[in-house]
This record gives sequence, structure tokens and C-alpha cells, in this order.
Amino acid sequence: MASTAARAEETAVEAESEHVSLDAQGDTVLVVGNYRIKVFSTMLALVSPVFRAMLGPHFREGSQSRNAANPLEVHLPEDEPDATLIMCHLIYHKKGKEVFSDCTLLPEKLYRLLKVIDKYQCLESLWLSVRALVSAELARDATFWETSILHVAIAYLVDDAWNFKLATKYLVTQFEGTAMFSEVQKYEGGDIIPLNALLAMSEIRQSARHELSKGLSRFADYKRRRMSDFGTDALEKWSGLGGESLNFTMSVLETYETIPAISNVAIKVDELCGGLCLKCVKQGLVDISSGMCKNGHEEG
Ligand SMILES: [Zn+2]
Repeated sequence: MASTAARAEETAVEAESEHVSLDAQGDTVLVVGNYRIKVFSTMLALVSPVFRAMLGPHFREGSQSRNAANPLEVHLPEDEPDATLIMCHLIYHKKGKEVFSDCTLLPEKLYRLLKVIDKYQCLESLWLSVRALVSAELARDATFWETSILHVAIAYLVDDAWNFKLATKYLVTQFEGTAMFSEVQKYEGGDIIPLNALLAMSEIRQSARHELSKGLSRFADYKRRRMSDFGTDALEKWSGLGGESLNFTMSVLETYETIPAISNVAIKVDELCGGLCLKCVKQGLVDISSGMCKNGHEEG
């Protein structure tokens, strides 16, 4: 009786699920979130050593019989459903509904996809499709620093040194507020950025702020001496320096770049915020104070 009830419940759950058949001859159904994705186990095994092991004879899933009429159910409760579905589409060289026609994916979806791809170790097999999605996303400016956190994480996951450098630079200069690394960790993507990179970015930001406040006091002196009324709003804007992003503060500075006292401050700050070397970060060699590579890694 109990088993009949359980079976009925199972059938009800199955009916509510979204069935996605990527392979009519598929012998396996991946059950992830609300999706039931029909695939051929050989396809999964070809691209992913993790699936190859899971569906091989040494695991429970692999030792059960399976065919198109009686596909094997593989439950993946820990995986992000949408990301897993997108990964399966990529394995079958299909676009799926999540990827836009211009070969882009929302940055958070791309990040989650890369995490699943990383887990199943199929980055190399899916490299061309992933590269296209990543390039399209990282070529776009992050309007919000939340997006730049995702960009850093994406570049880190695909081992893209050039974009990691750009994205860390962007994050350092875009970030608003005074705290940094503890805040970054709270956001999606921030959890996988290594601590040494977060510390380096925080240090660089501190040095840049220090450089800016030196420029600010020189400017204040200059204004006093000249009794000039130009740039009256500058000090006001800069009084909120602690809370503004470096980007914004530098854009204010650039307005006054003809003033000798501060003409080179923006350049100096820009030099300080050069972005981090990915190889140094991965090898634990990153220079916390500047992020600059002193280990001769080729970047780009
Ligand atoms: Zn390096």
C-alpha cells in the first residue's frame, strides 16, 4: 500500500517536471531540479571524466541496465538545474533557450554554467562554445560592480589571464564603499575568488585612495593660495571620497587635470590599479601590495 502511494507520488512529481529530450535514443535521464533531461550516457562519458566514472561499472548508476525504453535515472540534487540544462545543450551542440541569438548568456547564468562545467571537468571538451560565451560576456563593460565580481570569477574559472587582469582592475576601481574583500565574498562569484586576490585588491584600493587624498590636499592648498573660485564643487564631491568608487573619483579629478597640483594624480592612481596576474594568484605568489607580476609570467 505504502509503495503504491509512493509510486503515485513519484508519478505526480514526474508529470510536473519539465521533460527535455536531447536524444530520442537516450538511455539516461538526468533529474535535476524540475528538469528531466534525456541524454545518451556515451555522450556524457565522452566529454566528462566525472560522468564517465559515475556511469561506469564501478558505480551504482553505471551497473544498472539502461536503454531508450527504460532509461536510467540519475539524480543530481546538488547541481544548479538551469546551469546543468545549458551544459547538456552544449554537449549536444544545441543553443537551448537560455543562450541569446548573439551568443550571450546572462553573466550569473554563465558563472553557474562554468561552475557545473568545472565540477564535471568538461571545460576542455566544451572549450569552443564556452570560449564564445565567455568572450561575448567579458567584452562588455560591467555596469554594476556586482557584475564585475562575476567577471573576475568567470575569468578565473576559464583560466583567462588577460581578462582576469582587466576584471580585477575594473572591480578595484568600480567598487563603492570602504570595505572590500569581506563584502565581495557575500556576492555570487565572490565566494570562489581566492583570498590572496581579494586581499591584494583591497590593498591596492587602499593605496589608490591614499594617493587620491594626497592629491586632494594638494588641490586644497593650491586653491587657498590662488584664492580662486574654480572647482568650488570639487572639494564637496571629494568629501564623499570614502564612499564613492575610484572610477567616479578619478572622473572628477580628470575634470581638473589642467591644474598642476593634481594633474598626475589620476595617472598615478590608474597605474596603481593595474589588475592582478592570474598565474601569481593561482600559485599563491601575488604581490599583495600591488598585484603586479614579479614572476615573469606572460599575460594575455
Ligand atoms: Zn605573475
